Amino acid sequence: MIWRESSGVSWLEADLGGEATACFTSREGGVSEGAFASLNLGILTEDNREYVVRNRLRLARCLGVDPEAVDMGRQVHGAGLDFNDGTGFPHFASPGESPPPEADGQLTDKIARPQLVLVADCLPVALLGDHGVAMLHCGWRGLAAGIIDAARQRVGARRAAVGPGIGPCCFEVGPEVEAAFTNLGPGLMHGRNMDLPEVARRQLSRAGVEEIEIAGICTYCDRRFFSHRRERGRTGRQAGIAWLD
Ligand SMILES: [Zn+2]
Repeated sequence: MIWRESSGVSWLEADLGGEATACFTSREGGVSEGAFASLNLGILTEDNREYVVRNRLRLARCLGVDPEAVDMGRQVHGAGLDFNDGTGFPHFASPGESPPPEADGQLTDKIARPQLVLVADCLPVALLGDHGVAMLHCGWRGLAAGIIDAARQRVGARRAAVGPGIGPCCFEVGPEVEAAFTNLGPGLMHGRNMDLPEVARRQLSRAGVEEIEIAGICTYCDRRFFSHRRERGRTGRQAGIAWLD
């Protein structure tokens, strides 16, 4: 992945073979302040909603995408997917009173419809296949519930990009988390810490996804990113965003 920058906004861009673009934003370049400084994209935080909308519009301009075309869901740490046909309500640019439908994965086969998830330690995972593109919100619960394989089947995925999330250096877990992934074999635990990117990589690999790019950046260690665990819950959200070119 390579770092890109525009007007102070910086993001990682993954190679999806020229057919699609996947970007993972940092917290840099926005207008939010304090715990939410500065490119907070999450409405469901204690941040000023007006700032969040300004950040979202700024990000869309920097990425060169239509903010009205962005699809997103209300994330619940599940494996539910939304397949978007290009007619959805634009929650991203115009967050209203009613939240978007519950889903942790956004998928589409339409060109130039960005699929977005919000994260702050969970992994954003992009998939590309013959039937479209997907962006998934992957915490341990969603991974254990099978969100990667569900999305892989829908888009016929052959390429994937795993964005920044909490790394094996910082993700201490309880025995219930370790038990959820014993089917993936040994080597996922480092003491009491779990290697969640490696969980995602193994699930992708087992599902037949051949090209997998991993950011290898820990959001807890790297202060260019929001980290829910480091900030004890009071923090902003960055995004994973992918679209068909
Ligand atoms: Zn770390």
